[in-house]
Amino acid sequence: MRILIADDDATSRLMLEAIATKLGHECLIATDGSAAWDLLSTSGVDVLLSDWMMPGVDGPELCRRVRHELSGQYVYIVLITALGNHQQVLEGMGAGADDYLIKPVDPFSVRSRLIAAERVTALHRELVDVQSMLERSTAVATERSLTDALTGLSNRRRMEEDLANMHARAQRVFRNYGVALFDIDHFKAYNDHHGHLKGDEILRRVAHRFVNDVRSGERVYRYGGEEFLLLLDDCTHEGAVVAAERLRLAVADLGIPHESRPDSPKLVTLSGGVACWDPVSTRTVAELLELADRALFEAKSAGRNCIRSADEPARIAHGV
Ligand code: GH3
Ligand code: MG
Ligand code: MG
Repeated sequence: MRILIADDDATSRLMLEAIATKLGHECLIATDGSAAWDLLSTSGVDVLLSDWMMPGVDGPELCRRVRHELSGQYVYIVLITALGNHQQVLEGMGAGADDYLIKPVDPFSVRSRLIAAERVTALHRELVDVQSMLERSTAVATERSLTDALTGLSNRRRMEEDLANMHARAQRVFRNYGVALFDIDHFKAYNDHHGHLKGDEILRRVAHRFVNDVRSGERVYRYGGEEFLLLLDDCTHEGAVVAAERLRLAVADLGIPHESRPDSPKLVTLSGGVACWDPVSTRTVAELLELADRALFEAKSAGRNCIRSADEPARIAHGV
């Protein structure tokens, strides 16, 4: 173990150092409380053997600082006091010491304290390891619960969280945001013709294309089934439509054959509905999604493979 000996008395220091070194421990030495605190803050000390009275920071104050300000590691503290001073012992233990030694110290007493110290610090290290393992697995589980298993995209739960945050922030800082809801055209026919597994493959390819093509300030989610949502931060209405068009074209550009659809092109394509929120808007998130869904329905009605906007439908061109 790494043991810090804090004592302003040279004889006492030498004695403690000789005993601890003989037991195979590494010793750090401080001749006053301030130097001890510096070493405690920087040197990964396992055990502190501290005199009660020292210039600068005294023993009990050192105990308090270790307990309140040092986190992550457990320093086993043994306070060294004068014979028979029970009040000092109790005060020291109250301040955070684990045990005490009475001057003059002898090898047996030091050795027995260090056995207990070894056990306690090892247990604490195990505890820290278990805790960080738990934190890691909780983070993994949380991430998994917010990810769509098939496509690897963020799922609807994360979308709802992000949308709520985006909405709150947009209201706070007077900023626009937008959504585009996409739906794969005639996907049922694709499944019916090629089978569900091939259909899954299409969902993955479309998702992958989205991930490659989204830009900064854009985030894409699997909304459900063969529907995806693009969330656009700080966008103008025109910008949202352009972004939705970009993704629609990107998917058509994959050139995935879809012979079983009744219309053309005989490729996997998307239709999309866009809706935007601006600071004068009183739309709720649910209303925004509802508007995007209605615009998507219009895109389907208009012949599919195109984008429609809830706000200015007349301006949006039919896609190719
Ligand atoms: P439209 O152009 O009007 O959107 O027609 P559509 O056939 O795409 O729409 P519809 O809602 O009739 O069918 C959606 C299909 O999406 C039906 C369902 O089986 C399929 N689907 C939903 N989720 C999945 C999935 O995870 N994997 C696969 N392979 N298919 C899915
Ligand atoms: Mg659908
Ligand atoms: Mg569809």
